[in-house]
Amino acid sequence: MNIDGKKISIIGAVRSGIAAARLAKRFGAVPFVSDSGDESKLASSIKVFQNENIQYETGSHTNRIFDCDFIVTSPGVPSNSEVLMKAKQNKIKIVSEIEFASWFCKGKIISITGTNGKTTTTSLCSYTLNKCGLVSYTAGNIGAAGTAFSEVVLSAGENDFIVLETSSFQLDYIDSFKPNFAVILNITPDHLDRYNNSFEEYKNSKYAVTKNQDKNDFFIFNADDENSFSGITNDSVKKLSFSLKKEVDNGSFYRNEKLIFSQNSRGEEICSAKDLQIKGEHNIANALAVLGVAKTLGIASDKIKSAFQSFEGVEHRLEFVREINGVKYINDSKATNVDSVWYALRSFNQPLFLILGGKDKGNDYSRIKDLVKDKVKKIYAIGSSAPKVYDFFKNIVEVELQKTLEDCVYKARKEAQPGTIVLLSPACASFDMFDSYEHRGRVFKNAVNGLK
Ligand code: ADP
Repeated sequence: MNIDGKKISIIGAVRSGIAAARLAKRFGAVPFVSDSGDESKLASSIKVFQNENIQYETGSHTNRIFDCDFIVTSPGVPSNSEVLMKAKQNKIKIVSEIEFASWFCKGKIISITGTNGKTTTTSLCSYTLNKCGLVSYTAGNIGAAGTAFSEVVLSAGENDFIVLETSSFQLDYIDSFKPNFAVILNITPDHLDRYNNSFEEYKNSKYAVTKNQDKNDFFIFNADDENSFSGITNDSVKKLSFSLKKEVDNGSFYRNEKLIFSQNSRGEEICSAKDLQIKGEHNIANALAVLGVAKTLGIASDKIKSAFQSFEGVEHRLEFVREINGVKYINDSKATNVDSVWYALRSFNQPLFLILGGKDKGNDYSRIKDLVKDKVKKIYAIGSSAPKVYDFFKNIVEVELQKTLEDCVYKARKEAQPGTIVLLSPACASFDMFDSYEHRGRVFKNAVNGLK
């Protein structure tokens, strides 16, 4: 793709926006970066733009954006945001940052999408490939410390891999993006506010990951979750699946606590669930998805097993923090929807003290009602959704409203008996009380680490 001399407006001035602007400049285009956020919050980005002579605006999106050949949008910008809607009205081509970066990509792309498990699976996949002697880079929307695709795209040679955490917003504006592997982990209702409250629209945005794939590419889906494959119409791509519940002919599955890879119905045992340091059946599913990629790439089974054995997981995802007097404290701050809490609750057999609440995204707690009844001794409700949490659970389990996350930790320290677990798995976004889920997780960990 020749972008020499093109005027490119880039929406979003944080990591992806900066990386896209640099990439644009490198190939002779003229980028203009626009972010509606406050100048004070974008100080470090502004420094970069000034040093590197990149034009920008902050505080609002002005009409200057529309004076361009096309727009590149960052992953954090909702597909139905006003600025993108206006661009559409003006008939301006919009591409996502991953589409833009893919124009310059020589390496092989492994795109990992789904409602939950993207970061964990992306990290495990890249870790496994690197451990097994291949060269891979992680990129995409990975937490606050993540690397944008545009930032690493030029590092990857023809034989290297880029494992790309891919959100549905990024897929909404793809055109020719064509991953060698596309993985859909699961699709459950989330972010529906950004899809006109339509689950169909949200699913379709994820299905787009396969739309340009051909017979040389692979699509790996979750056979246990019909939503993750039912709408796929691409017949030419090679398909593999993974399942926790049933034996699949081509792909990976779980039987008698073993992870098995199967090709033409012939199964090979790769490792046992106990070999994984990441806990919970959702993480077995994530590992099964990676197994499909690794075996397809021809990696030896014993190498995959040893990579799985040494992968420690990702911060803020069922992260063990500390044990005090027989009580374990677990940070699952990244559980920002009800489904991920469902998996978190299923990951433990011990009684739980659960910290729940935050900025509600239209949560329906009925999905976890039975599990809470079974496993949770007490809920500490925090954040703007605390009254909703209280109302829903008050007849099921003891619920106590708390003002701060620290208060929850101090209270749990007094009340939790040896053999129990104190679990922060809030089912909500963090923005009512914190800057991000990472911030929330750190506050929790600091409070726990400060306990006497
Ligand atoms: P994402 O990047 O898609 O948000 P993460 O790997 O960051 O996913 O995990 C987010 C939350 O979802 C964590 O609380 C984690 O325990 C839970 N989770 C991880 N993998 C899965 C899965 N396959 N299915 C359901 N929940 C999962």
